[in-house]
Amino acid sequence: MREAKQVAEDSKAQYELIVSMISDIVWRYDVNAIGEHIGSYISPVVDKMLGLPDGTIGNSFDKYFSYVHPDDLPAVQEILSEGIRTLEKDKTAEYRLRKVDGTTLWVRSKGSAYCQPDGRVTVFGTTSDITERKLAEASLRNEKEFAAGLVNIVQAIILVLDTQGRITMMNPYMEDISGYRLDEVRGKDWFETFLPKSDRQRIRELFSRVISGTRTKGNINPIVAKDGREIIVEWHDKTLLDPSGKVTGILCIGHVITEHMRAEEEARALKTQLEFILGATKTGLDIIDANFNIRYIDPGWGKVYGDPAGQKCYQYFMGCNTPCPGCGIVEALRTKSPVVTEEVLVKEGSRPVQVTTIPFQNDAGEWLVAEVNVDITERKRAEVNLKASEEKYRLLVDNIHEAIFVAQDDRIKYVNPGALEITGYSEKEFMSKPFAEFIHPDDRELVLRNYLKRLKGEFVPQGYAFRTLDRYGDIRWAELKAFKISWEGRPATLNFLNDITERKQAEEALRTSEEKYRTLVENANEAIVVAQDGMLKFVNRMAGEITGYSEEELTSRPFPEFIHPEDRDIVVQRHLSRFKGDVSQSRYSFRLTTKNGSIRWVEIEAVLIDWNGKPATLNFLSDITERKRSEQELQHANQDLKVAIKQSKELADLAKKANDAKSEFLASMSHEIRTPLNGIIGMTGLLLDMDLNAEQREYAEIIRISGEILLSLINNILDLSKIEARKLELEILDFDLCSTLKDTTDLLAIEAHEKGLELVCMVEPEVPSLLRGDPGRLRQILVNLGGNAVKFTVQGKIVIRASLECEDERNATIHFSVSDTGIGIPADRKDILFTPFTQVDGSTTRKYGGTGLGLAISKQLAELMGGRIGAESQEGKGSTFWFTAVFEKQPAGPVSTDEALTKIEGVKVVAAGQGDRFGEGAAERPAANAKSASWWRRTIL
Ligand code: ADP
Repeated sequence: MREAKQVAEDSKAQYELIVSMISDIVWRYDVNAIGEHIGSYISPVVDKMLGLPDGTIGNSFDKYFSYVHPDDLPAVQEILSEGIRTLEKDKTAEYRLRKVDGTTLWVRSKGSAYCQPDGRVTVFGTTSDITERKLAEASLRNEKEFAAGLVNIVQAIILVLDTQGRITMMNPYMEDISGYRLDEVRGKDWFETFLPKSDRQRIRELFSRVISGTRTKGNINPIVAKDGREIIVEWHDKTLLDPSGKVTGILCIGHVITEHMRAEEEARALKTQLEFILGATKTGLDIIDANFNIRYIDPGWGKVYGDPAGQKCYQYFMGCNTPCPGCGIVEALRTKSPVVTEEVLVKEGSRPVQVTTIPFQNDAGEWLVAEVNVDITERKRAEVNLKASEEKYRLLVDNIHEAIFVAQDDRIKYVNPGALEITGYSEKEFMSKPFAEFIHPDDRELVLRNYLKRLKGEFVPQGYAFRTLDRYGDIRWAELKAFKISWEGRPATLNFLNDITERKQAEEALRTSEEKYRTLVENANEAIVVAQDGMLKFVNRMAGEITGYSEEELTSRPFPEFIHPEDRDIVVQRHLSRFKGDVSQSRYSFRLTTKNGSIRWVEIEAVLIDWNGKPATLNFLSDITERKRSEQELQHANQDLKVAIKQSKELADLAKKANDAKSEFLASMSHEIRTPLNGIIGMTGLLLDMDLNAEQREYAEIIRISGEILLSLINNILDLSKIEARKLELEILDFDLCSTLKDTTDLLAIEAHEKGLELVCMVEPEVPSLLRGDPGRLRQILVNLGGNAVKFTVQGKIVIRASLECEDERNATIHFSVSDTGIGIPADRKDILFTPFTQVDGSTTRKYGGTGLGLAISKQLAELMGGRIGAESQEGKGSTFWFTAVFEKQPAGPVSTDEALTKIEGVKVVAAGQGDRFGEGAAERPAANAKSASWWRRTIL
């Protein structure tokens, strides 16, 4: 028993050892007869598998299940119960476990259920890690999907035929190009359905060979699409084998090559043509596509560069890894027009070629270029030589700042940068129109004439100047040098133009400014001369005019020769002192001796200047001969005047003396005459008082009148001579102006009455009446004026008027006027009034009598009385004589009756005729006036 037990224990240990060595989980699951879980075992490897500490799961299925992926758990449990129920053997389940670290573990559990005699069911099983297999499966699945996807999208025909040549599968691309759908053709015979009749037999045989295991090369044969189109396809076949190595069918992969073939065919044709041309022209040719792939090369290239297959053009020709800069292909394909470039073929000894890249489109619509490469070695060489020599000259010409042109026909054929710079035109503008248009219109003819002469080989002076027009329309002066040359095989002129505008402008400016000064100097009214080293270096026109010498004469002799000998020293000395900086006496006068020997006075003003780099004097000489002469004349005249004045003074003295003697004589004579005359008049008066007969009376009356006239004349003469001899003295008496006026009026009234004239005397109310002065002389003036008025008036009236001109405390200036309506005085005779012994009209004396002394005496008297005298008159209408006189006012005393009266009336009427004051209606006279009028009135009828 113990032995048996030992054996059992040993076998258990062995068993456990085995189990522990198994990487799979070994497990057991027990249920009772009614299906309740009653016990279980799980080998300890479970903890390792799940990444758990040993012993975590123990033998607990519940714990184990908690690590099963929740999505898979129900299925796992279901399979277990089903296994128990059906007592199935080797039942499997694949499901996921979640490891502690979060990763997923794929496992497969496999169990077999056994029923015990007591009704218990025990399930024995293992669980193994199948994660790796699962991953491999997944990736396989991916690959399959990928392959299927590829089949669907690849631009190639993929076709599967069974061993009988029936279609089992074809991809969408095949559907597209053939127009058939898989469903339509599945199971159908490939050869009958898709191949042209002529090919069927051949291809079928080929197919049989492939099936039988013979390897074939690729095959090209066409298929017929649903619409009858033939499509050429290049085929690659592969037999499909089953796992036992038996052939199950053929996988056919096909590339459609229809376009490609056609292009090739075309290219072949082109090739033949081109090769012929190329051979004839030594021209290389290639055809390149848009990706720089060489599609064709001229056989010549092949010899040099080898096989171009698979090479890009830049690699093949240039050995570069990238397209060449400035590649003509790109440009030609962009512009769809030929492009010409030049390239150097390095591998061929730097052979220069001109490449004409011609874009074209093949039948497939693809754009390609054909490059025609022409050897230009010779041309280049010539060009380089030419360029080198041309460059040399161009460098020269371009750097010349002169303008250089080549003119041919009427155009400019070449122009250098200098010309562009000077004129502002562009080269294009120069070339675009006849060169004459660049020339000033006034100069065109000259330039063209010279141009044509030069072309004919005739002589044309070099360096002539003319005007050009620049781009801005400004005139530019150019100096031209030109030569006849041959330009492109024909005669032309090579022209060098020097821009001399600035020189011309400077010349012009100088000329105008010089002209300005020259004009000034030449037109100066002074002689302007420059003296240096004893000579005149410059003389103006006026210098010649003053001296009478020509310019040559003046400038060719020492200047002192032109100076009056007496003045020479002083002038020379002053001229010299000026050089020593002496500026005193820069202005003085001296005499010149003119060419004709006459003398001219000049006034000189000199300044020191620089003349041609040396000091000189600039002299302004003004001719003062006339001034000198008039000065002298004036001097003489003054002299004469002085003598004359002296003489006239003496004469005046004499005259005065004579006059005084005359006045004295007259005064005494008058006095002497007056005494006997008074006797005559007095006695005649007595005689007239006697009883005389008519005849006697008449004679006596004549004597009286004549006596009185004579007396008045004598009185007048006496007055005048007294006044002239200043012997007349005024009396100073208190008098009443009104009564003086009244007396005078009374005196005049008799005569007026006799002539039937109205006589009015008016005194303005403000005129003071009580005055102090000489009433006798006042009366004399009034009688003179009043008498004249009566005398020269035939009809009408005479108005005597006194008004106040002004007054102060002591004095009053009275204005008197005597107006008449008489003959008046002509305007041109008015100024002779008031001169002694003059009458307006020579006939007056005869007609009116008089001596012409009255007004002269009145003037003198008025002036003696501090007044003035004057007259206004209108010929034929009347005159007004007026005068003023200043009187002292009497100290205030009792107011006289007259005065009182005048105050009432406002206007004093001293004497009046029958009319009113001014000859208007009597009714207008104030009432109070009537009283005074009656009192004073002398009715003169
Ligand atoms: P006569 O004694 O000649 O009148 P007067 O000196 O009084 O001398 O006058 C000079 C001249 O003035 C008069 O001869 C007369 O021609 C002119 N004359 C003076 N008073 C008047 C007057 N009231 N009307 C016209 N002529 C007058």
